[in-house]
Amino acid sequence: MPSSHPALPRIRVLATGGTIAGAQTGGARGYQAAAFSIDALVGAVPQLAALAHLEVEQVAALGSQDMNESVWLQLAARAQAALADPALAAVVITHGTDTMEETGYFLNLVVGSAKPVVLVGAMRPATEISADGPMNLYNAVAVAAHPDARGRGVLIVANDEIHFAREVSKTNTTQVGTFKATHRGLAGLVHAGRLHLYAPPVRRHTTASAFAGPLPPALPRVDIVYAHAGMGRELIDAAVRAGARGLVVAGVGDGNLNAAALAATAAAARAGVAVVRSSRTGGGVVERNIEVNDDELGFIAADELNPQKARVLLMLGLTRTADPAALQEMFFTY
Ligand code: GLU
Repeated sequence: MPSSHPALPRIRVLATGGTIAGAQTGGARGYQAAAFSIDALVGAVPQLAALAHLEVEQVAALGSQDMNESVWLQLAARAQAALADPALAAVVITHGTDTMEETGYFLNLVVGSAKPVVLVGAMRPATEISADGPMNLYNAVAVAAHPDARGRGVLIVANDEIHFAREVSKTNTTQVGTFKATHRGLAGLVHAGRLHLYAPPVRRHTTASAFAGPLPPALPRVDIVYAHAGMGRELIDAAVRAGARGLVVAGVGDGNLNAAALAATAAAARAGVAVVRSSRTGGGVVERNIEVNDDELGFIAADELNPQKARVLLMLGLTRTADPAALQEMFFTY
C-alpha cells in the first residue's frame, strides 16, 4: 500500500483466505470464505497507510478448514524469505480462524526470525454487519509494526486481543471473542492500534527452535483419534493401516482411553508408531504415568498441547526422530 511516510516499517501481508475475506451468499448467514483478494481487504482499511508500507502476496485462497501441510510449508517458506530481507520489519498473515491455531503454532516452530509474525482473521465475513475483519487487520498490522512485538513468537490478533499462537484455541463456533488461551492468558491487548503487551512466552520458539531453518519437503502422516465412552479400537487400527507414523489421542480427562483403545494404541506403539496422549477437555496438563503407564507402553504425554497442536509438534518431531523419549522431551520444550 502506498504511503508518503518514509520512516514507516515495511510489512509483508501473506493472504490465505478465510472469513476475513468472506462474502455473504444471499441469506444473512450463509457465506463463502476467501471470496475477496488481499488487495480488496487492504483497500477497505485506508488507515493502514499510516501504520506501515504494506506489500501483499496471495499465497492461497482457502477457508481454513481446507488448510493443509503443503500450504503450511509454502507459507513458512514465503514468511522465511520475506523476513530474511533486512529491510522488511514483519509479516502479517490473513487466515481463517478454524485452523489458525495450528498454522500459527507450526510457524512458531519453523520460522527462525525474531521479527513479528502475526496471524489475523475474522469471525464475520467482510460483507456482514459489524464485520470484525477491518479492525482486526488494522490491529494486526499495528502489532506487527511495533518493535516490542519482536521476539515473542508467532502471535494471533483478533477481537482487540493479542495471543501467543502456542497458547490459544478457537473455542466458539461463531462469536467474535472465540480465541481463548486457557493456560497463560493473553499475550496482550490492542485497542485501535495501541498495544499493551504482557508477559513474554514461556516455551522455546522461532529463533530458539530446533525446527527453524530448512523446511522438510513434506510432513509425515499423523492422525488424531477422539476418545469417548465406549470407544472401540477400529479407528486406531485403521489409522495405523493407513500409514500413520504418529497418533494423537484426544483422550478423556487426563489423556485417558479405555481398555480397547489402550490395547490398540499399545500395539501401534510396539509397531513403531509414535503415540501421544492429549486431552479432549480443552485445558490442563497431561502428565506421564498417572493412570496410564507411559514408561511401559512407550507413550508420549502431550504436556500442555491440545490434540491439534500436539499433532503439529509430533509431525515436526517425526522429521527428526521416532524415539519416544526424544519426542517426549520435545513436548516438554515446545
Ligand atoms: N471456515 C472459515 C475459516 O476458517 C470460518 C472461520 C473464519 O475464518 O472465521 O476459514
